[in-house]
Amino acid sequence: MTPRSISHLGAALQRVKSQLMRSMACGGDHSLRRKLLIGTGIALVCTAILAISVIGQSLDDYRHARQNLRGLESFRLILDTANLLSAERGPSNSVLGATAAQHGALRERLTAFRARSDAILDQLSTNAGVPPELLAPAKAQLQKGRQEVDRVAAIPRDRRGLEDVQSVIENMFEVVDIFQSVIVWKAGALTAQNPELAAPVMIGRIFGELREFGGRIASQIMAPIAVSQPLQLKHLVDSNRTRGRILELWRLAGNQKVIGIQDPRLAADLGDAELMFFGEGLGILDGLVAEGRKSGNYSMTADEFTVRFVSTLKPLERLRGDFLDVTIERLTELRNGALAILAVTIAITTVILAILAGLLVAAQRFVFGPLMRAREAVIVLAEDRPTVPHQEPHHHATEMRRLFDAIAILRDSLAERASLTKKLKQQAETDGLTGLMNRRALDMIGESHTSSQVMADGACLILMDIDHFKSINDRYGHLEGDHVLRESVRLMRPMLGQNDIFARFGGEEFVILVPGHDLSEANALAKRIRAALETHEIVLSNGAKLTVTASFGVARGNLGQFAWRRLVEAADAALYRAKSDGRNCVRHSLTPQPTLVPDLPEDNDLNASRETPPQTLTIVGGASAAKRSS
Ligand code: GH3
Ligand code: MG
Ligand code: MG
Repeated sequence: MTPRSISHLGAALQRVKSQLMRSMACGGDHSLRRKLLIGTGIALVCTAILAISVIGQSLDDYRHARQNLRGLESFRLILDTANLLSAERGPSNSVLGATAAQHGALRERLTAFRARSDAILDQLSTNAGVPPELLAPAKAQLQKGRQEVDRVAAIPRDRRGLEDVQSVIENMFEVVDIFQSVIVWKAGALTAQNPELAAPVMIGRIFGELREFGGRIASQIMAPIAVSQPLQLKHLVDSNRTRGRILELWRLAGNQKVIGIQDPRLAADLGDAELMFFGEGLGILDGLVAEGRKSGNYSMTADEFTVRFVSTLKPLERLRGDFLDVTIERLTELRNGALAILAVTIAITTVILAILAGLLVAAQRFVFGPLMRAREAVIVLAEDRPTVPHQEPHHHATEMRRLFDAIAILRDSLAERASLTKKLKQQAETDGLTGLMNRRALDMIGESHTSSQVMADGACLILMDIDHFKSINDRYGHLEGDHVLRESVRLMRPMLGQNDIFARFGGEEFVILVPGHDLSEANALAKRIRAALETHEIVLSNGAKLTVTASFGVARGNLGQFAWRRLVEAADAALYRAKSDGRNCVRHSLTPQPTLVPDLPEDNDLNASRETPPQTLTIVGGASAAKRSS
């Protein structure tokens, strides 16, 4: 590589370096990190908002569905309670219509029914949230009705009055009537909570009432049957009114279109109700009514009537139960669907967040991390700091790999340039023949105050010139002359101090710069070298041996732009005297105190500053220089 191409490469690299410094000055690092943080923050906040709104909506749907389901389950429990309260009338009527002898089994049945009613009533507050104060009147009426049943049942059958039995039955009707307030309260709460529940709540109530009035119509003619008396007008009117009500309710809810749910269970229940209750049940009732119109002789006892009639009520009970079952199943499906959607939404959101986090980690790992390392590597190169090449992982994207390859090339180029520059500098400052520092480098040191720390307080300069060197060249040729020069240097080098500067001044002239102001020490060194040279035999290529002598001029002074020139001149003058005094000797400058001569700028009046002792130097040096150059 030629010095010219090296300088071109250096200029190109310099341009790259300054561009990099400019781009770094624009704050790349700071803004990139900030942008990354802001971008990450925005992405996370947006995703979090999206996740919260989507999950929140799904959660709402799920809660709503769950609330509907629980509400309807509570409603069902309340309707079941009403049903059991109605059902308790059956065994009560049976007991009322039986003799004391027949009471055993009937009472047992009645006790079981009462226990069922009590158990379900106890659940209402905890499981259906019915306020206890709302339940209290129905419970009180139930106790009253039961006491009445027990009181009248205790009267021998033949002495039981129609009014007694009628009053007992009506007390039991009253229980269910009072309990209606609980049903109305729950139905209102559910409809207010969710208008969609209005239809199932209403149909549930209709089926509940169908069962209630279905039972009640029998109870309304039960008193005369229980005491074997003919029906009175009141019994006929009441049972006819109830029949009308039952038919009205049946018209309202007696087919699947009205219910709005297609389900085989409901279809079967509707058919059974039609057949059993409206066919068989009401048929039995009509038969007994016909008998009761004529006399108090009935074809069946109160208990037989109760047992047979109650069995025809079963389809109505099932209808209510199945309708609520189907509705609850549908609400359960809706709740499970909402739960599934909620789970899927949470899963999808989690996956999205995980993907986002993965992307961020990947961006940090594959883009921002390498970019930051690349940036650091470029800054290190630009600032010429020592760098250890870092091995980047192989999984980098092509662009990143190319970037790091380019940085590696840049690093190698800069290292090559630094090594070439060092070499060039060395070449520029070194004498090719002897390997010593050349005149140019010596002058640079001499003219600078700061270049040599050890000589900051001054130095002694030994200027040495080989005697009659021309004749060596003339006699042995230039190559042998070169050899003599090299040999002389080789001899002298070990004799110098560690901080001494040894340079080729030009031709067969050499300089030794010794730190400090001790002229006698420098003189002594010059004398040692002179003596060594004088006795040292140099063997030429043809085997001939020769010795050389040299003359030495020693001076002391300071380094610096002007002081250096004066120091060289003083040494030169002393050398001239050595030559004049017959050569092969050491002479030193007569200048007593070099520090007395300040290093003045060129513009100053140099002569004026030399009014003190330097006069000697000026006269001698000037004369010698003039003479030598002539
Ligand atoms: P004096 O004792 O007065 O110094 O005599 P001199 O012959 O040494 O001095 P002069 O200045 O007359 O001659 C110096 C010679 O040194 C002339 C030149 O050819 C020779 N010379 C200068 N540089 C080199 C070099 O690098 N190699 C060789 N072989 N000779 C050189
Ligand atoms: Mg010379
Ligand atoms: Mg010479």
